[in-house]
Amino acid sequence: MTGPAADTVDAVVVGAGINGMAAAARLAKAGWSVALVEAHERIGGFIDSAERTTPGYVHDTWSSWHPLFVTGPAYAEFGPDLHRHGLEYANSDGLLTATVSRDGTVTLAHRDVEATVAGFAEPADRDAYRAALARFGAHAAQIGGLLGAELRSRDVLAPLWGLARTGGRAGLETYARDVATSGRAWLRAHFRGPEVDRLWAPWLLHAGLAPDSASGGLMVPIFAATLHAAGLPVVVGGAGNFVGAWERLLDELGVRVNTGRRVERITLRDGAAAGVAGEGWSLAAERAVLASVTPPALYGELLPPAAAPAPVRDEAARFRPGRAAMQVHVALSGPVPWRDPALAAVPLIHVSDGSASTAIACAEAEAGLLPRSPTVVVGQQHVLDPSRVPPGAAALWLQLQEVPFAPVGDAAGELDTSRGWDAALATGYAERVLDRVAAHAPGLRELVVGLDVITPRELAEYNPNALAGDPYGGSAELDQNFLWRPLAASPGHATPVPRLWHIGASTHPGPGLGGASGHLVAGRLLAPARGERLRRVLSRR
Ligand SMILES: Cc1cc2nc3c(=O)[nH]c(=O)nc-3n(C[C@H](O)[C@H](O)[C@H](O)COP(=O)(O)OP(=O)(O)OC[C@H]3O[C@@H](n4cnc5c(N)ncnc54)[C@H](O)[C@@H]3O)c2cc1C
Repeated sequence: MTGPAADTVDAVVVGAGINGMAAAARLAKAGWSVALVEAHERIGGFIDSAERTTPGYVHDTWSSWHPLFVTGPAYAEFGPDLHRHGLEYANSDGLLTATVSRDGTVTLAHRDVEATVAGFAEPADRDAYRAALARFGAHAAQIGGLLGAELRSRDVLAPLWGLARTGGRAGLETYARDVATSGRAWLRAHFRGPEVDRLWAPWLLHAGLAPDSASGGLMVPIFAATLHAAGLPVVVGGAGNFVGAWERLLDELGVRVNTGRRVERITLRDGAAAGVAGEGWSLAAERAVLASVTPPALYGELLPPAAAPAPVRDEAARFRPGRAAMQVHVALSGPVPWRDPALAAVPLIHVSDGSASTAIACAEAEAGLLPRSPTVVVGQQHVLDPSRVPPGAAALWLQLQEVPFAPVGDAAGELDTSRGWDAALATGYAERVLDRVAAHAPGLRELVVGLDVITPRELAEYNPNALAGDPYGGSAELDQNFLWRPLAASPGHATPVPRLWHIGASTHPGPGLGGASGHLVAGRLLAPARGERLRRVLSRR
């Protein structure tokens, strides 16, 4: 445990992921006394880095890419402070992302839109791509405003009105249609050639979706526009340095960081949240408790059963995890021997045939099978930040987002899944993944000097918010997202328990490093009450 364990504060924040840190910082900056309580001995949640394979190689253990953070509200408020506390980004000006297909075809996206469309064979696709980005660009502020707002509140009126004013009823309807559409269908509707699908369909995995999931029609242009605009920043020296900057900022703001403390109960007084307690300790919260946990944890474990209405508890118990994920960190003694040399300069590559193969791999994983041809997310952070590897060496951050938590078989019929994610299965599947990359980088296997595999089971053990190994805090399919996240019976961030607020990836606007839910709830707590607002307006007259 670090920091003083004062008994009473204004607010207790449970869980020190990006949302917990953002909420604690915002409240403390406004003068609240805040305790941030974290089960682990370190803060950061799914943000960390370490020499996980071989000395001299720094790997981002979990999350790595910060486009959501640098375009989000927490960075807008705390970015200058975090940079003052040592945060430094490395970003790409040129090549951004690429997809390498089974036949070796490489499709490239650059920061520059014109350089990207130059690679599309069909002239009509170049225009359609420019048009899709221009349409999104014209409404980016409103879409961002909607995604960052409490959806069932008057806060959505201004962005909705802005959308209606600039796009008319037809514009609003187009977005509603995009939300109802899958990424694959949207890509087919807009583009004739395969390039845009190959490039952006695999990115749907990073939103917890599959190519055939509804709302992909909204997410594909959001991904493309965000990445062209913000790039793929990574933290110089490793993601752990991001957490270090937050630690110093929280300390400066006077946040009492309590690590090594697992919250087991939210305590109530007269039916309202009054604090938290763990084994042999407790903290009182005078004004609010913010919990960055999953709905099943909140309503099934931390609160007594009578605290919330039965429909909320029942729906929380049925909250669905999304597909599980797995990380493979690889240390290489030399540069990646890509067959296509252009790939050497690309920070993030997908090994995929676009929606064609990614949708099959998603379906296999949903059926409990290890995919035969998984989509491999290949991160080459050292391209942006060479300080992470010894001179002349390379490292791969391989992410698999189509894996079953409890495998029932192998779609390729090769691996024995009967003992679940044991060491043999982890190694066997990592071999398949490495083979898939090596098919486009002959000689890769001979360069491997270190390997670290994190199975879905280990992911879930590390962070209780990764239900069933889901890296995104719960399925982001349409019925459990946006208006219905975390729960249709308790949408938004206020809970049925007075003074208890729900934040984190399980809540709107969902997973990723934006920190938006924590920042938003802190903002709501700091906003003057409606009566107070009216009084201030009247007193100005
Ligand atoms: C492998 C991986 C790669 C990813 N890559 C990216 C990426 O590159 N870019 C991106 O934007 N997003 C990425 N994501 C998603 C992103 O990391 C998460 O959505 C985000 O970090 C979640 O933040 P959070 O605030 O919800 O809290 P989390 O990071 O989930 O942290 C929650 C914290 O709460 C603590 N906690 C939970 N219950 C309790 C309790 N009862 N008592 C005390 N503490 C508790 C946990 O120990 C944990 O530290 C990735 C996720 C994973 C797993």
